[in-house]
Amino acid sequence: MNSELLHAKLKENFGFEKFRPNQETIITTILSGQDTLAIMPTGGGKSICFQLPALILPGITIVISPLIALMKDQVDSLKTNGISACYINSSQSSEEQQFYIDNLKSNKFKLVYIAPESLSYLDNIFSELTISLIAIDEAHCISSWGHDFRPAYTNLGYLKNRFPSTPVLALTATADKATRTDITKQLNLKNPKTFVASFDRKNLSLEVRPALDRVKQIIDFIENKPNESGIIYCLSRKTTEELAEKLSKSGILAKAYHAGLDNTTRAKTQDQFINDDCQVVCATIAFGMGIDKSNVRWVIHYNLPKNIEGYYQEIGRAGRDGLPAETILFESYADVIQLQKFASDGLNADVQLAKLERMKQYADALSCRRKILLSYFGELVDENCGNCDICKKPPTFFDGTILAQKALSAIKRLQESEPLAVIVDFLRGSKNAYIYEKNYQTLKTYGIGADISWYDWNQYLIQLINLGYCEIAFHQHNKILLTPFAKKVLFEGEKVKLTTVVKKVIDKNEIKQEKAKAAKNSLFETLRKLRYEIAQEEEVPAYVIFSDASLRQMEILRPMTDEDFLAVEGVGKAKLEKYGQDFINAIIEFHRNKSVKKEKKENTYKKTLELFQNGFSVEEIAGKRNLGETTIISHLAKLYVDGHDIDLSQFVSEDEIAKIEKAQIELARPEALRPYYEYFEEKMSYDKIRFGLASIERKYNKSVL
Ligand code: ADP
Ligand code: ZN
Repeated sequence: MNSELLHAKLKENFGFEKFRPNQETIITTILSGQDTLAIMPTGGGKSICFQLPALILPGITIVISPLIALMKDQVDSLKTNGISACYINSSQSSEEQQFYIDNLKSNKFKLVYIAPESLSYLDNIFSELTISLIAIDEAHCISSWGHDFRPAYTNLGYLKNRFPSTPVLALTATADKATRTDITKQLNLKNPKTFVASFDRKNLSLEVRPALDRVKQIIDFIENKPNESGIIYCLSRKTTEELAEKLSKSGILAKAYHAGLDNTTRAKTQDQFINDDCQVVCATIAFGMGIDKSNVRWVIHYNLPKNIEGYYQEIGRAGRDGLPAETILFESYADVIQLQKFASDGLNADVQLAKLERMKQYADALSCRRKILLSYFGELVDENCGNCDICKKPPTFFDGTILAQKALSAIKRLQESEPLAVIVDFLRGSKNAYIYEKNYQTLKTYGIGADISWYDWNQYLIQLINLGYCEIAFHQHNKILLTPFAKKVLFEGEKVKLTTVVKKVIDKNEIKQEKAKAAKNSLFETLRKLRYEIAQEEEVPAYVIFSDASLRQMEILRPMTDEDFLAVEGVGKAKLEKYGQDFINAIIEFHRNKSVKKEKKENTYKKTLELFQNGFSVEEIAGKRNLGETTIISHLAKLYVDGHDIDLSQFVSEDEIAKIEKAQIELARPEALRPYYEYFEEKMSYDKIRFGLASIERKYNKSVL
């Protein structure tokens, strides 16, 4: 089948214009009858690789999937696209199962999803079915090397023997070689063509922050995005519960999820999250595998993950729809200490410790984080990514030799017997009970670092540890020891380069602006609500109706005809028929309301202008119209910008305008008036500033024309 036809099928059935990397070649390979192994990152678009061939091939496609919840989701999704599919698993009654089996025999379905444990249901009717393709999702479950081993997967090899000429497609997001070999061997794949898609997920931003005050940082972050779903991964069950409670107290819809909760509670939380009824899930790594939710907009790691594989899989749950999504990892030394203990006490201690070390190196990186991640998965890239915190704000170095000397000699004075926090207290000359109890205040160098904040000392010490001048004795109460390299700094004049500590300050203005952007009255919000209502009615997750990416496109393209609506990504024939009219109506309605509002606004300006032209003062107009004087002034300023004949000289002088223009440049054109007011030390009134800016804007508009 040629590429043009494949694209047409993709658009018609799934509403997508383009294939994601490797999708088309994988599909072509399958259609040629060849066994295939597809390795793609989470969110890479694996499902299309068997769903599209299923529509093209004559018979039925069997999809082996390990997760019951996922099957329902995928089948719902297919149905909204008008594709006949069903699943068979243990959640159904035997009548239901029989119903689907009968219908399979009469070729009613193009795809059937089935758990490996339930395959035996099909055994008896195999000879009556035309099986065109066997897709094995999450194929790494076959391997006992991996983390999701499922014994029933190891029996799947018989499928290839039984249907030697039916192509088998194995799919996974786990890339390591041992697992790959295992899959090929155990599934009896015949010379499979292997495709490894890039693991780069460009739409995920990467950021690491020190963990101090992390709850507050998280609350600030979430308050900034009131309607966006996100996951917070925590190390312990207890943390998930405590954090969920703290967030709830701040008015955020958050729930805990971990393996210790009963099934009903877990299923409920998962459902609420999927259906956009719960904004945030605070979870252990038990959460996520069974979730296809495409509009998870952010993932936070409250604790350092154990290894990079886990970390990457977890952040991969954000932004599957391809829209920008944010990830933040909080790094704390306490976590490193705890994880190191876990790893060294567990199985394969050496391997686990080495993996943890790589994870820590990633978190402490001073160069592009994405490069580090991808190189871990064997991908080498030349360019820095531009979408990680390091790329966005490269660290600046300074000569930290004196700081290092102070810190290292403090460690020595304390006889290498104290943990990090005590060293910082000692350096800062803190007068706390512990210091006095130990009589540390009498030692030389006590308080020599009082000019540096607690936070900064903490960070500098961590840098010194990372640079190898000192280390933590994990099994001895985490006291800090000097390494042989410390000598070089203390006695041999070695220079130490440190990086400036940047504390992420949350700009309240930024928050307000963002909040305004997410405002309730945007078209996106209107469409989101409509999507939610339809989803409730149809009892499917909202993203099954349309992805966030589709809604964003509707917001930009504002389709008002069927034809335009079809041009939106994610809109195929079936979705156009089912939902087109509702969404188009909502868009038209939104426009109408907006123009009514605009008209109202224009009218109010017109009234002010008339009164002004009839010689009334600002105060008088405000009185007549029952509006504030500030409102009238803002009307006049706007009218002036729009070219109406208003004499500004009675409000602001040329000299003042010149000053305001200068301020505008120096302040880098702030949106608000307050920065100007402060710039002039409260000596220039808000009214003057407003008129001054109007004058500049009109002048500028003219010169642009
Ligand atoms: P995976 O199973 O690899 O994690 P999915 O098959 O669930 O990924 O796809 C992830 C998301 O990407 C889904 O929302 C899907 O609709 C979307 N998607 C898949 N292929 C395309 C494409 N070619 N164009 C746009 N979106 C796509
Ligand atoms: Zn980068």
